[in-house]
Amino acid sequence: MATITLKGVTKVYPNGVKAVKEFNLEIHDKEFVVFVGPSGCGKSTTLRMIAGLEDITEGEIFIDDKLVNNVHPRDRDIAMVFQNYALYPYMTVNENMGFGLKLRKVPKREIKEKVERAADVLGLKEYLDTKPGQLSGGQKQRVALGRAIVRNPKVFLLDEPLSNLDAKMRAVMRTELIVLHKQLQTTFVYVTHDQVEAMTMGSRIVVMKDGWIQQVDTPDNLYLSPTNKFVAGFIGTPQMNFIDIELEIEGEKMFACFGRYRLEIPEKVIKRLKEPDLDYHLKLVTLGIRAEEMSLVKEIDNDNYDNVRGSINVYEKLGNETLAYIDLRGAEDKLIVRAGSRFPFKIEDRVSIKFNMQYIHLFDYDSGESMLKRG
Ligand code: ADP
Repeated sequence: MATITLKGVTKVYPNGVKAVKEFNLEIHDKEFVVFVGPSGCGKSTTLRMIAGLEDITEGEIFIDDKLVNNVHPRDRDIAMVFQNYALYPYMTVNENMGFGLKLRKVPKREIKEKVERAADVLGLKEYLDTKPGQLSGGQKQRVALGRAIVRNPKVFLLDEPLSNLDAKMRAVMRTELIVLHKQLQTTFVYVTHDQVEAMTMGSRIVVMKDGWIQQVDTPDNLYLSPTNKFVAGFIGTPQMNFIDIELEIEGEKMFACFGRYRLEIPEKVIKRLKEPDLDYHLKLVTLGIRAEEMSLVKEIDNDNYDNVRGSINVYEKLGNETLAYIDLRGAEDKLIVRAGSRFPFKIEDRVSIKFNMQYIHLFDYDSGESMLKRG
């Protein structure tokens, strides 16, 4: 049972690097919160401040209602799991998992019970007498998790725990961690630079950049309603397509113009403009559209302004889908379009691209902020 509250938390390292800036967040009891962002954005520093492994330059951190700024890590009732499993090579799995309890002088019988229960949850029962050297990466990470579980902490802090595993094992461990979180009913805070991990595991995700929180939201909301161009580009593979456009107003209608093209923006989208009363005529804007919100057809041979045409530069067949890289004609832009597994085109084939304009995003050209309210 634990909530974690961060109020205006800022970290400046002695060398002057401002790693975390005015971080405000309330993590609810039993939540699975993921901090995600590119390397160096301040994720680990924030986690380490929650753990008590880094001093806080400014702000306050509470675990439940207790201010922990000056509480020793040992007394915070948290457990941390790192990327490098940090197991003792000469100890068995059993000994590794129980070692922390032994140091705390927990009775032997209680240690045995706790280790066995954790080994059961983690599928490690048959490895209790094995030394880490004989385990796979995934098993080692499970032992590291076990060592945390036996302490029955209020909060689990996990710093890139799957980064050392191969892709297949990472996928397995992802689902295992989700199940584990359900079983333990404990607050999890998880750091990763991998947006797939964040999207699949987090009930809420904190996207960070340059020490600043960009958006705190559910995976769905991050994907469907990113608050700015950075989040839009960071979440989702392939990356969202961005096209610099000029808006044109004609009576009640609004058009997105780029190159020789002019696409009508649906009324539903116009109604979502955060500032409906601005004069948008000739305003430079970044239009965003996800790869699955466009479709390809054999080239339609007319010069209408809404017939976006291009040719296939490259395509990647991924089995369940095909990603087509398109060079537009009549505009400078390149697009990535997600198509089905039965892909009828070849390289250099000419195509027309239909935009599902209902699902476009509009970002301020200068600030990158979304100009639209949530749909
Ligand atoms: P992330 O976990 O998102 O990769 P970090 O929190 O590790 O990022 O680092 C954030 C910033 O702080 C980076 O610019 C990094 O170089 C800097 N930094 C991290 N640790 C230290 C340190 N001990 N001393 C000085 N700068 C540091």
